[in-house]
Amino acid sequence: MALTDMDYISKEDLFSVLESMKIALPRTSKMSTEALSKRLKDGLNASQRSEELIDGDFLDPRQFRPWVDLRGLMRQTMVMQQSIMGNFNRHMTQGLPRGPEQTLEELQDVVLYFGHQCNAGVQNLILSDKDVDDWAIAIRIFGAYTVDEDTPVFMLSYRIVHSIPNKTLPSVSELGRRSFLRLLNMNSKKLTHQYEPDGDNNRKYAKKKWKVSFILPLGPVPMEEVGKLTTDPGCDVCGSTKNVSRCSNCLTVVYCSPECQRKAWPSHQDACRSLPGGTWTEINLGENPSTPMGGLPNGMFVTRLNMHESWQGRRRTPEVFRAGGESGREPDIPKDIHGNKAFLLKFQVGLGGGRPNHMMMYDQAAELHGLLEEDRGSRGV
Ligand SMILES: [Zn+2]
Ligand SMILES: [Zn+2]
Repeated sequence: MALTDMDYISKEDLFSVLESMKIALPRTSKMSTEALSKRLKDGLNASQRSEELIDGDFLDPRQFRPWVDLRGLMRQTMVMQQSIMGNFNRHMTQGLPRGPEQTLEELQDVVLYFGHQCNAGVQNLILSDKDVDDWAIAIRIFGAYTVDEDTPVFMLSYRIVHSIPNKTLPSVSELGRRSFLRLLNMNSKKLTHQYEPDGDNNRKYAKKKWKVSFILPLGPVPMEEVGKLTTDPGCDVCGSTKNVSRCSNCLTVVYCSPECQRKAWPSHQDACRSLPGGTWTEINLGENPSTPMGGLPNGMFVTRLNMHESWQGRRRTPEVFRAGGESGREPDIPKDIHGNKAFLLKFQVGLGGGRPNHMMMYDQAAELHGLLEEDRGSRGV
């Protein structure tokens, strides 16, 4: 079977892999497989920080120095990915299975495994499933190189094999292998055509059925990207993301055309009619004079950082918004990215303790967040 067929991922699995990257789209979304695949591609690129690490359109490893500290390679890969050694041991070496919603973790472990094997001087690897043996990915690692002082890149070639020599570790699920293959195929197109691996032995693995590619550590997808990739799940009927507009009555669903809206009406009407029957409250968003930044106490600050993301190893400092402070400096107000467009806010009741009657609120990309507090003044909330 051709290399490209094996990276097929069903629609349901695409939702799961995206979820593993915190890109949670409603499973009822009618988005096409192609549109979901595009989000997966964008998600993977954000996870490996392609835009930041690849100069221009193509990665050119000829400008990189070899990664010398091989013992530090695995540790550094782990730091870049925020992955935990215990996970690697439990899932990869002891074979504890993972669910489809843990695919990103599984891919991170594969990259960690590359570091592990590089360190041990092993160049040929097989990624197979210990329970299903009809296909596996054979990998030849050419070496690890230094993209920037703390980011390694693994140069390699790969091919599909159907007879697996021996039941080697590690065990990578079918979906994990398909997703990994997709990443390899994607990166292969980003590699400069001038690249050739060093040494005759390696060059044998760059010919015929072997395809040359690279792998960068896979970090958490930054919050900003998560926000972009979870918006616009498309027309509720056909999945098209072009020319969509919201149902003017409830604002909870979007349609691409009056035809699609008519088609949806029989099933949508109950939900649509129940919303205007609810209690609607108008609130004003703005600065709270007593506690700047919509209610955060003085001195606290908020960032647009995925909770699974770390600052370590990131060249780009996440944008930090500070509330005012003792110094009397003005609080930073994040820019208004929504304008007059409708958007969803999530309200979360405080987890006991702290201040009563307040709710945490934030939008999908965490571009807007703060506390909503009961107005004890005359107007009520
Ligand atoms: Zn439609
Ligand atoms: Zn409606």
